[in-house]
Amino acid sequence: MAGIIPYESGDIVEMKKKHPCGSYKWELLKVGADIKMRCLGCNHEVILKRSLVQKNTKKVKKTCN
Ligand SMILES: [Zn+2]
Repeated sequence: MAGIIPYESGDIVEMKKKHPCGSYKWELLKVGADIKMRCLGCNHEVILKRSLVQKNTKKVKKTCN
């Protein structure tokens, strides 16, 4: 995805790279300069730089509203 992605907590992000558990989807828990996210496959939580998350984002699915 190009440009700035307007991430919000609660969004489901599909990544370009597969997590070792086999899932591509992550739920955003906390969004700021860093993003805290949880893998929907294995519930593993990570904190990554927003720029790195953005680079690896394939799709964002809004769950709220
Ligand atoms: Zn996982």
